[in-house]
Amino acid sequence: MPTFRIAIVGAGPAGYFAAQALQNLASEEKSFAIDMIERLPTPWGLVRSGVAPDHPKIKTVSKVFEKVATASNFRLFANVELGTDIALSDLISRYDAVVIATGSSLGKSLGVPGEKLFGSISAADFVPWYNGHPDYKDLSFPVDCDTAVVIGAGNVAMDVARMLALEPSELDTTDTADHAIDVLRKSAIRKVILCARRGPEHAAFTAPELRELPKLEHTNVIMDKGEIEAALARVGDDAEKDVKSNLSAMELITQAEPTSHERTLEFKFFLAPLEILGADHVEGIVLGINKIEDGKIVPTGQTTTIKCGLVISAIGYEAVPIEGVPYAKGKVVNEEGRVVGTNIYTVGWAKRGPSGVIGTNKSDASDVVKLLIEDLPAQPKNKGDITDLIVGHRVVTQEHWEKINAAEIAKGEPLGKPRVKAVERPELLHLGGL
Ligand code: NAP
Repeated sequence: MPTFRIAIVGAGPAGYFAAQALQNLASEEKSFAIDMIERLPTPWGLVRSGVAPDHPKIKTVSKVFEKVATASNFRLFANVELGTDIALSDLISRYDAVVIATGSSLGKSLGVPGEKLFGSISAADFVPWYNGHPDYKDLSFPVDCDTAVVIGAGNVAMDVARMLALEPSELDTTDTADHAIDVLRKSAIRKVILCARRGPEHAAFTAPELRELPKLEHTNVIMDKGEIEAALARVGDDAEKDVKSNLSAMELITQAEPTSHERTLEFKFFLAPLEILGADHVEGIVLGINKIEDGKIVPTGQTTTIKCGLVISAIGYEAVPIEGVPYAKGKVVNEEGRVVGTNIYTVGWAKRGPSGVIGTNKSDASDVVKLLIEDLPAQPKNKGDITDLIVGHRVVTQEHWEKINAAEIAKGEPLGKPRVKAVERPELLHLGGL
């Protein structure tokens, strides 16, 4: 049976779902040897460094990844960076196909004055910071202020706002990085204001996430009742199912009895950032007030200023380009996942931009892998793999990763946590026995 070598770059959900699709679609005519290359010493991508630590259920998808990884036709090459340790040209020439699954890790910028001030950061840095990603452990931002403003109305903005607004003891039983719990404990922030530039009916949140908010034990979640009612009236009965479901979840939030909690998480709509104020650190943010006119969002010309010491923008992501791969509009230039004229394919956020939940990547990767298999020639290249290129390099294989995983879980057990993450690269390699 001819065995085709496939390299998958990036060990996040999209990469694992691509590997799973290859495993599921193997046949008498075509079988696959899968090499997954990951620059971090740890796999799982956003499941490890993106999903909010207080959402452990979402992380159970890692069981699927581990099943894929323990199949005999799968090898993990973690702690191996494309462009540094190996070249794209090596993958292209040696493998029958290369799948780029490197996601989008750069935060989009707001493009307003003051964005570079100390105290203005992107969710693309803050989220991996609290999740213990080695590259973000030293992120510095002020928490000696009373108020933080989060820009954006998607699930990332909500995760960020919730992580700032909850009582840190609620994180004790999670795998939040220790350094983050320490900073959040010291934080003086008691008011978190999430600002959306459009109305409640346009928000990109999803209903399950909204429904969780009233369950926060120590935080008052505030939405303006009139604003939600006005949105309900605007959309009427013909609204899409998701919009209706979001608005009814928001309605429930407005009906919750106010409590005496000192922490608040407030949602404000129709506010677009214009300028971040401050001399050498953030002191406030000026927002333009929008309105709906003939179904369109337009500025009223009026502004409002919120005094705050921290601004976190959560307005989407862009891919970090890989040299030799064409990029445009923050993602790989592709046609249904094919990088036309090459043996390169792309899946996940690198392919379609930062949209969808983790499960979205399953059908997406499977569709691309079907095309990849169709495109394969009758016989494999048989040009080898990357092993001779990384002799002497400290590669984290599946076996090493399993040791890291077991050590982190064991450390968490007596503390009632799912794991205690190692954050420093040397520590991760040491735990892996390297
Ligand atoms: P998103 O869902 O696309 O939301 C981005 C938000 O940023 C939108 O509200 C957008 O508003 C706003 N925005 C964009 N540019 C802006 C600007 N210049 N000024 C002000 N606001 C601006 O992106 P995301 O929150 O980064 O999430 C990415 C994907 O991951 C989504 O599919 C999300 O559902 C998913 N995710 C899921 C979970 C979960 O399942 N729990 C958790 C996190 C993320 P407009 O609509 O007006 O453009």
